[in-house]
Amino acid sequence: MPELPEVETIRRQLLAAGVEGRIIEKAYVEWPRTVEPLTPSVFCQAVRGRTLEKINRHGKWLVFCLDGNENLLVHLRMTGGFYLTQGTFRKGPHDRAIFEFSGGLNLHFRDPRKFGRFRLESCGGFRSVETVSGGDGAPPSRVSGLGPDALTVTKKEFFQALEGKDKILKALLLDQSVVAGIGNIYADEALFEAKLDPRRRSGTLSSDEISRLWKAIRRVIEAGVRNGGTSLGNGQGNYVDLNGEAGGHREKVKVYGRAGQPCVVCKQPLHRIRIAQRTTVFCPGCQR
Ligand SMILES: [Zn+2]
Repeated sequence: MPELPEVETIRRQLLAAGVEGRIIEKAYVEWPRTVEPLTPSVFCQAVRGRTLEKINRHGKWLVFCLDGNENLLVHLRMTGGFYLTQGTFRKGPHDRAIFEFSGGLNLHFRDPRKFGRFRLESCGGFRSVETVSGGDGAPPSRVSGLGPDALTVTKKEFFQALEGKDKILKALLLDQSVVAGIGNIYADEALFEAKLDPRRRSGTLSSDEISRLWKAIRRVIEAGVRNGGTSLGNGQGNYVDLNGEAGGHREKVKVYGRAGQPCVVCKQPLHRIRIAQRTTVFCPGCQR
């Protein structure tokens, strides 16, 4: 399942491919639920002729800023992804939507499991915060209901996000309204990096521990982005980037998917438990 680093990798590749600034000449929707609650015809009509001015991201959402103050938000969910073709195209078997851009470039939304979703919304709020949140090379973006982005969250924002909360740490990191962009892989990696037990409650953390957790999140997310994301498993729905390549981060994970194997620090076998319905791997020796 794509998390922030995978979505950011796709965003950067879309930029590099020169998708920004093009006009959507035509759109096709092959799987109606992708654009719910709109119908395919209403959706295609709405985006036709619009210029894709900018591609941003907030958490796991890709934000396509269209002219006329509207955003097309895309959530890849389990298996969504994009690929590009040039000129006359053939629909791929798992294509759920296709955008024909000016200049003969086609953007295909491929999604074997069909859980990916598009949302078209007015972006009054979006552009008004652009000037204040664009530091750090971060994509200036805000999707309502989401906490600060995990790639750019500042220490101050992180402390604020935790204020008054007393949640199990693993669940806290997965809660997109606290910090946006972290899923199961990077939650386990961040907690290992911070040497914190995933079952601890956030209300019991000292300021030192909160700082450590903030630093760990930034570090594992940045490393994930640097390595082009993480791919796990070999199924057809597995994450691949815009060029169909698996992420390079798989060899770098220290705990996720390594239950029973020795901890890279203390050599004790890693434990697997379930928290908030999610498999969680951690080192009982290192994480307190
Ligand atoms: Zn250990």
